[in-house]
Amino acid sequence: MGEAIESNGSVSRHRHFSPAESCITLRGVTDMPKRHRLRILKEPQPPWYEKGLHFSCTQCGNCCSGGPGYVWVSDRDILAISEFLGLAVEDFARRYLRQLTGGISLTEHPNYDCIFLQRSGGKALCKIYPVRPTQCRTWPFWKQNIESEEHWHHAARRCPGMQAATGPLYDAAHIERCANDPESP
Ligand code: SF4
Ligand code: SF4
Repeated sequence: MGEAIESNGSVSRHRHFSPAESCITLRGVTDMPKRHRLRILKEPQPPWYEKGLHFSCTQCGNCCSGGPGYVWVSDRDILAISEFLGLAVEDFARRYLRQLTGGISLTEHPNYDCIFLQRSGGKALCKIYPVRPTQCRTWPFWKQNIESEEHWHHAARRCPGMQAATGPLYDAAHIERCANDPESP
């Protein structure tokens, strides 16, 4: 289903399997004079998403539900969400967090919906949208999704918002800010 299965059988929300990596060869380059070879190797190539990528969340809820999953939260996320909900950090932690081997994650409902997912009028809404964790905020511009066009399309199989040819266009600078966010997966 396009989600990474962890060692205990759970999946990480928004995470997707990476397609097999392409095998890249430099065949042909060895026929060139050495100075040209060096120039080719040194000149950075623009990323495949240099013209930006469209993304428009359809609020389908796929990334916030499904099988068991993790929504990792940082200290910054915990403080922001606690404040947003008007809860002391300790109360928030008791009600909504779980400590796992890999870090601290939001809890989920018995049907594995994220604890903050709310369905209304056929839409899936996030109850903490303005302060949603970095993992959610930086989707779909995660490193593993922008690694190549193939990776992007692979992730898009489960996220209709990534398939939109219209809607907001995010420029390369924004995409890279998300991908390089130290708290982004
Ligand atoms: S469109 Fe994508 S980001 Fe939006 S809820 Fe669906 S799966 Fe999640
Ligand atoms: S915190 Fe919000 S956006 Fe993130 S998985 Fe839960 S419901 Fe979805």
